[in-house]
Amino acid sequence: MPDRHRNPVTYIDDPVDRRTCGCGCGEPVSGGRLFLPGHDQRAIHERIARQWGDTLGFITWFDSEYGPAR
Ligand SMILES: [Zn+2]
Repeated sequence: MPDRHRNPVTYIDDPVDRRTCGCGCGEPVSGGRLFLPGHDQRAIHERIARQWGDTLGFITWFDSEYGPAR
């Protein structure tokens, strides 16, 4: 039985230009960007502070869990 319901796929907008910043702020990003400038660092530090208090707390935990830097 031939498939008579198949339609060609059309793209109205470039989906790459409709993404939002990876930090969750909701601002649009375009091109190859995943974050707005500086938002990746802010997001990382916010999560580190939430879980480990500060960067030193994170580093201490990381090194005890995975070993010190070589
Ligand atoms: Zn952002």
